[in-house]
Amino acid sequence: MVESERLKVLGKGPRREGPVAYWMSRDQRVDDNWSLAAAQEMALARKAPLAVLFCLVPAYKGASRESFAFMLGGLIETARELARRKIPLVFLRGDPAVEIPRWVGEGAVSVLFCDFDPLREKKRWQEAVASKIGIPLFEIDGHNVVPCRFASPKQEYAAYTFRPKMKRLLPRFLKEIPSVERHPFRWPDEKEGERSLKVLAESLALLPAPQAALGPPGALAARSRLARFLDEGLARYDERRNDPNGEGQSGLSPYLHFGQISAQRVAFEVSRADVADEAKEAFLEELVVRRELADNFCLHNDAYDRFEGFPDWARKTLDDHRGDERPFLYDLPALEAARTGDPLWNAAQRQMVLRGRMQGWLRMYWAKKILEWSPSPEEALERAVGLNDRYELDGRDPNGYAGIAWSLGGVHDRAWPERPVFGKVRYMNLAGARRKFDVDAFCRSIPPFE
Ligand SMILES: Cc1cc2nc3c(=O)[nH]c(=O)nc-3n(C[C@H](O)[C@H](O)[C@H](O)COP(=O)(O)OP(=O)(O)OC[C@H]3O[C@@H](n4cnc5c(N)ncnc54)[C@H](O)[C@@H]3O)c2cc1C
Repeated sequence: MVESERLKVLGKGPRREGPVAYWMSRDQRVDDNWSLAAAQEMALARKAPLAVLFCLVPAYKGASRESFAFMLGGLIETARELARRKIPLVFLRGDPAVEIPRWVGEGAVSVLFCDFDPLREKKRWQEAVASKIGIPLFEIDGHNVVPCRFASPKQEYAAYTFRPKMKRLLPRFLKEIPSVERHPFRWPDEKEGERSLKVLAESLALLPAPQAALGPPGALAARSRLARFLDEGLARYDERRNDPNGEGQSGLSPYLHFGQISAQRVAFEVSRADVADEAKEAFLEELVVRRELADNFCLHNDAYDRFEGFPDWARKTLDDHRGDERPFLYDLPALEAARTGDPLWNAAQRQMVLRGRMQGWLRMYWAKKILEWSPSPEEALERAVGLNDRYELDGRDPNGYAGIAWSLGGVHDRAWPERPVFGKVRYMNLAGARRKFDVDAFCRSIPPFE
């Protein structure tokens, strides 16, 4: 039974007979998927067929072709898994605000479910779909362990205000997720799933393979990465996660971003692991508190990727330092090509472009340097968001917008001693990095661009 706290009614309509559909977007998996479980629950109660829809938006936010390949590779696995459970995955391409209502109308669908997503384009698509389909549209939050709208009704100031709420609510939501059964009521057009699978495979064949450094895409690969992390990484996560030379992090973010694995599943397995509490707590702080705080930020702050989205104190201090002389100014092509005077920054940028994933600690350093080297905070923000969305496999995610807003605009952070350019926004430099880890070894480990 899906908890009512995960549900929001986005659109109403008269009750009528007909198939049930789930518009999958952010949670691209079969297992541990609350939206799919809710859609099947309703389809079974109504003795109705069930289909899953996916609408691909070409060139979404300038994402790299490798990111599309990672997503499509995972979707093919999802489509096959759905087919085994007699549920077709229908693959559409174009503007969801047009394609979803068209398909829903043609298929005489009676109820549509969708994923929760706090980003503005997604909210706009959902609003447009809700206004056109004339049937109920139900949003289910299966991306967050504690449903985002329920966790807090307002923008949280910082992790310390959000953490106690999450700690209180987590035991209630950290539990098993209903599984999706073989569906007994057949979709009217039995070939629809097969046709979509063919188009998916053809689309994938046109794209470059995703970066091998990460491993293959998909739910199976995500599960095996989690299993490896539980065996080899979790116990020392709290000591090793900030060292760019080690493999201290889980590497799960691209799988979490595309919903190829459920954060609730990861949190559940981690909470039951036989390792010291400090390691588990350090990991759950990132996976649950920080990740869900990022969804909270984007849901309640529509300017999540703009200067206006920064807190008052940070805007004021950055305004006060607009006129400060920048030690170096680089243009976007120089940044993109990793041609700055800072070897660590260049290596971090190359790591992102070549491997699709920059190490976590470096992401903070990378973004802060862009602020230092850009003519204005607005331009720095636009550059950081653009590069992050384009090259990170896990980009285009609330975590990215919150992480960049933290680095450049003090979101979820506090004021620090004042200094040029940054004002009271926390500063980081190369000397500090050298005290933390072997910077030269890291730089040597990332090959130059060809
Ligand atoms: C400037 C900047 C940009 C970032 N861009 C992105 C992005 O585009 N996409 C993205 O998913 N994360 C982003 N992060 C957050 C974080 O750096 C990555 O989630 C993490 O490094 C991914 O590696 P991992 O899965 O091995 O993480 P682990 O350390 O193994 O953590 C497990 C999971 O916890 C979550 N998590 C970890 N750190 C954070 C954090 N600081 N904030 C929110 N959630 C966190 C992620 O979902 C991550 O997969 C960004 C951070 C900064 C400072």
